[in-house]
Amino acid sequence: MTAITAHSRPVFRFAPSPNGYLHLGHAASALINRAMARRHGGRFLLRIEDIDLGRTRQSFVDAIYEDLAWLGLEWEEPILQQSSRLDAYEKAAGRLSELGLLYPCFASRAEINEAAVRMKSGLDPDGARIYPGLHRDLPADVASGRIAAGESFAMRLKMARAVQLLGEKAGAVLSFDEIDCEDGPRSVSLDPLRWGDVVLQRKDVPTSYHLAVVVDDAYQAVTHVVRGQDLQPATAIHRLLQELLGYPAPVYHHHGLVRDALGRKLSKSDASTSLRSLREAGWSPADVIEKLGLEDLH
Ligand code: GLU
Repeated sequence: MTAITAHSRPVFRFAPSPNGYLHLGHAASALINRAMARRHGGRFLLRIEDIDLGRTRQSFVDAIYEDLAWLGLEWEEPILQQSSRLDAYEKAAGRLSELGLLYPCFASRAEINEAAVRMKSGLDPDGARIYPGLHRDLPADVASGRIAAGESFAMRLKMARAVQLLGEKAGAVLSFDEIDCEDGPRSVSLDPLRWGDVVLQRKDVPTSYHLAVVVDDAYQAVTHVVRGQDLQPATAIHRLLQELLGYPAPVYHHHGLVRDALGRKLSKSDASTSLRSLREAGWSPADVIEKLGLEDLH
């Protein structure tokens, strides 16, 4: 756990991806972040996670600022945009590569799916088939020949090797500290192996969510990661990468998800719960807070 000295204030962040309008779930996450930052005397940062260059729109970035300001949130400037940090992600990937932990995978999504079904790969915590290891053991000269020929490739993590490399440190990696709003930290166990060889650099951009989030949480000295429960399993990958890259471990709070009437997680593609449409329908920020049952946080 990161030591918080008397001189350093805790750092919290809300990190939305601008590929749609924020909905009630984002409002909950941002408000819980701010409330916890206040309670801990911490700073509150906003980070724009815009590495998905194909789906990011400037209009969604502008809408994030507008919707959060409407909710009454304030954040520190300058705001970090991940699209300006590609060099930092390359550098971090380079360090993992030097450790012999990355390899190129040239396979298409369809080829990977076909192989995963044929090889009866298990499911990862998100319910996707685990990468069946297709190109893990390509001879180096074959891989470099394909790269030289201009084939596109993703870089994947040799997960088993990474866990093995950490050896006795793995005890620390395989858990993280979860704090609740009221209670102190409790240790949660993790198993990064359940994710298989995750992509750390995509074919179209030299990072993936997992790499970028870990590099930037360290860069911004984030001490408290507050986000939805759906991201809790991914914390296994994040803790592993933090250890491999020599970054400190933040503490985490994974809050419950806002669900629709049918119990489904809210989606950006359903306009009816976007903060924008609720605002247009006459909702006030207080109505949002009441709907989320977060009155006590204020
Ligand atoms: N950008 C991610 C999202 O919008 C959140 C990342 C995080 O909080 O770790 O789902």
